[in-house]
Amino acid sequence: MLRLVEIFPSFQGEGLLVGVPQVFLRLVGCNLECSYCDTPEARAEPESCRVWSWEGDMESVANPLPDAEVLRRIEASWGPMMHSVSLTGGEPLLQAEALAGVLPRFKERGMSIYLETNGTLPGELRKVLEWVDWIAMDLKLPSALGGRDLLEAQLEFLRVAVARRVFLKLVAEERTPLEEVTGFCRRITREIPGAGEIPFVLQPVSVRLSPFEGPEKEVATGVPRMPGGASPAPGISPPASAGHGWRVGLTARRAAELAEAVAAHFREVRVIPQLHRAWGIK
Ligand code: SF4
Repeated sequence: MLRLVEIFPSFQGEGLLVGVPQVFLRLVGCNLECSYCDTPEARAEPESCRVWSWEGDMESVANPLPDAEVLRRIEASWGPMMHSVSLTGGEPLLQAEALAGVLPRFKERGMSIYLETNGTLPGELRKVLEWVDWIAMDLKLPSALGGRDLLEAQLEFLRVAVARRVFLKLVAEERTPLEEVTGFCRRITREIPGAGEIPFVLQPVSVRLSPFEGPEKEVATGVPRMPGGASPAPGISPPASAGHGWRVGLTARRAAELAEAVAAHFREVRVIPQLHRAWGIK
């Protein structure tokens, strides 16, 4: 049984595999509260899971969903073009034991598994590692967590994750401290043999424009949030008049400074904004 916020088909909007078609399972719950979180609805427990089609039709299904029901819903959107099932959140590994029950059934059907994770729960990763093909691991700096330092947990997580295809992702804001980025990069590459070969994606934070104040004025907090947790349907661009736009919250100059700091430790660095935000899809 999985507790889910939503199931939907879309194109991967972030990271190294941007653009690949996937079926997304957004799992309930998160163990962190990042300052830039763009999926706050995943931190609450909804009574029902929203199941979307490519056409934007939505159906509500009561939580938790039995494994057979999850599988049936994925298969309804699955096709030859699909790259993988994306486990996203929230933090999917909070339901590692339930995932360990259902992931073998996905693999039996030839589905690859792509895990999007905040990279802080190494013990939970071990429970599902054998079925996971790709790991998109976020790095969480203290400045994004009110000073909380999770580097040791992240190092332990990465020691486990390197057994699979893994890349690192860091959400970058204009205010992201260069010394924190450098400190994380240095420790990771010093303590994990070969870590410098892991692809590293800097992801500029997406800043939501206010629907009420027009496209020129962004939400005062700078924290991107959908009103009431609502999101536009998959494949449906919100009307321009509603002002549900996003912009990249990072200047090219700052991105270059951060990329240079990362490149001192990692061989392959890319700066990739969120595709789905620019497109207005899920
Ligand atoms: S780990 Fe992800 S879902 Fe959890 S608070 Fe941070 S950004 Fe939001």
